[in-house]
Amino acid sequence: AVPVAIVSGVSRAAKAGVLVKGGRALEGLTRVTGLVIDKTGTLTHGQAQLAEILSVSDMPHDRILQLAASLDQASKHVIAQALVAEARDRRLDLLPPTEVVEVPGEGLEGIVDGRRVAVGGIRYVSQRVPRIVQTVSENHRPAGAVIVAVSVDGQEAGLLVLADPLRMEAARVVDSLRSLGITRIVLATGDRREVAQAVTVGLHLNEVHAELTPDRKIAIVQDEKRYGPVMMIGDGVNDAPALAAADVGVAMGARGAAASAEAADVVLLVDQLDKLPAAIVAARRSRRIAL
Ligand code: ADP
Ligand code: MG
Repeated sequence: AVPVAIVSGVSRAAKAGVLVKGGRALEGLTRVTGLVIDKTGTLTHGQAQLAEILSVSDMPHDRILQLAASLDQASKHVIAQALVAEARDRRLDLLPPTEVVEVPGEGLEGIVDGRRVAVGGIRYVSQRVPRIVQTVSENHRPAGAVIVAVSVDGQEAGLLVLADPLRMEAARVVDSLRSLGITRIVLATGDRREVAQAVTVGLHLNEVHAELTPDRKIAIVQDEKRYGPVMMIGDGVNDAPALAAADVGVAMGARGAAASAEAADVVLLVDQLDKLPAAIVAARRSRRIAL
């Protein structure tokens, strides 16, 4: 039989927009003292705004965006979805991509309109072209801007610069978590160090880890366990292995990246980071009732 306190704890959380997958997850929420947090789509809202297109070829800006966004229709990555939305806003024709191969969290390649297109982080795309422009002039780069590189037929085509600011509740949530006894809070992002550092200024995180593959995110979670039970929160397919490795995995689930929601013990059904401290408070309250 499932104890009444667990059922009521889980259903109380559900009313607050948090799916807690059973008693073990609820119990875990009361114990965690550490948090590993993803950046893009978790600490930031991921609805990034395209600030600038830098052509490094003779290809027109709209054509670069059209090819990149067409390919990105095949990706669930939040930045991919932001580019698709931007192309729609500009009334560009989105063409169907074929032969798509994605490396989650890094980028993807495929055929669009007869051209071989690759879209993703600078590191991912630079592995597919002989030369890539690494330096984007400072005034083209809002603090913490996300840079997406695009190549076409094995040649660099351009860089897309997106502003992806922190969620407005981010600092408040970090403070509430600390007051709830989550004393270690570290960032784990696949994005570049420069971006990670700029975005987290003022949050006073214990560590900022950048340029991580999904496997390296697991290693960060394992390493944090020496301080106590660890919760990991993320939104992407690239976070799923780290969510599974944590004592409590939490998915930002509103956008429905199925892989991360499946790997998680707790799913924030509402796309708001402040559901996280709310879930901890609800879990503790239900435990007090049980005692
Ligand atoms: P985080 O781990 O913080 O969520 P990600 O590793 O998911 O960040 O994303 C890091 C970077 O990878 C993005 O800022 C972007 O440059 C690039 N990227 C990854 N996948 C894609 C994609 N499908 N389309 C465009 N850019 C992508
Ligand atoms: Mg993410």
